[in-house]
Amino acid sequence: MDLTFWGVRGSIPVPGEHTRRWGGNSSCLEVRAPGMPPLVLDCGTGARGLGFKLGEEGCEHVQILFSHLHTDHLFGLPFFGPVFKPGCRIEVGVPAWSEDEARERIARYLNGAFHPLRLRELVASLEFVPVRPDRTAVFSSGWQAGTLRLLHPGGSIGYRVTHEGRSLAYITDTGPFSAPTEGLLAGEEPGPAEARLVSFLEGADLVVFDTMFDQDACVDRLHWGHSFPEYAIAVCRAAKAERLVLFHHDPSFDDDTLDARAAQYEQTDGLVVTQAREGDTIQV
Ligand SMILES: [Zn+2]
Ligand SMILES: [Zn+2]
Repeated sequence: MDLTFWGVRGSIPVPGEHTRRWGGNSSCLEVRAPGMPPLVLDCGTGARGLGFKLGEEGCEHVQILFSHLHTDHLFGLPFFGPVFKPGCRIEVGVPAWSEDEARERIARYLNGAFHPLRLRELVASLEFVPVRPDRTAVFSSGWQAGTLRLLHPGGSIGYRVTHEGRSLAYITDTGPFSAPTEGLLAGEEPGPAEARLVSFLEGADLVVFDTMFDQDACVDRLHWGHSFPEYAIAVCRAAKAERLVLFHHDPSFDDDTLDARAAQYEQTDGLVVTQAREGDTIQV
């Protein structure tokens, strides 16, 4: 699989000179594999650029998976070119209990008030698929993914996408599964919730993980539902994952801050740690 980052920010896009090198768009990832339709993980503002590229390719079939529907993960959907292409088949996986609820959750946003268009005005052929946590989701596109309930206000779902023996996990937005004084970070055995997270990531080839905060900021804001690099590293080590990509950068982090952060975490024994940069592609 090839994984490309089209948006790496959390909370709000931050365009401008100070974010030019690492990128200012909000969460959107593209996963490609030969013979498979493009898989889009979240539709933050990065989805607009991805849509232009897929339009040039003449793409007729797309699989989208939403972690959750906070606007930093959803804002780009009505700007994603394929939704305006007649006949283009778009399967949309949404955390929900039923197909109706999945459609309704998107329609609540595309209702003519928050955006000029209503969901029914998108001309592509949209199919809504409810995604529930803690099982394997199989889509008619051929993509399949394990799902995990994350810790985030309103809920969020983590995905482990597998294809021909390779696997990548997308874990955003989530708080740590234990307090820093307990579990893996304290050098102890993980509690039940943390053990579930470790087992979900067991042996993953690549893990993209929400590390929006630094540890001190996270401890002050545990209920905000975001994590920090030391936690992601501890979990990925316990899971014997191969590579970790720090993701969902705080909008207040400028390029210099992200340069320093990348350098701070690259030396981590036994685990390759890099930081998501808009436009980068990683082979998985
Ligand atoms: Zn977010
Ligand atoms: Zn969120």
